[in-house]
Amino acid sequence: MTEDLACISCGTYFTAGSGFVKFECPECGNIIVRCERCRTLGKNYICECGFSGP
Ligand SMILES: [Zn+2]
Ligand SMILES: [Zn+2]
Repeated sequence: MTEDLACISCGTYFTAGSGFVKFECPECGNIIVRCERCRTLGKNYICECGFSGP
């Protein structure tokens, strides 16, 4: 598994200790990564499968 992870909303690359969250898409199980900033702003994410959420 790659560690080449980036925020799905803004594209910022994952860095340890920066408040990133990682979870599976409830639709397809794809790993979704979001940074703290996008989480705080409440930006929606859109998965490759088309699923979007808060
Ligand atoms: Zn972000
Ligand atoms: Zn998905």
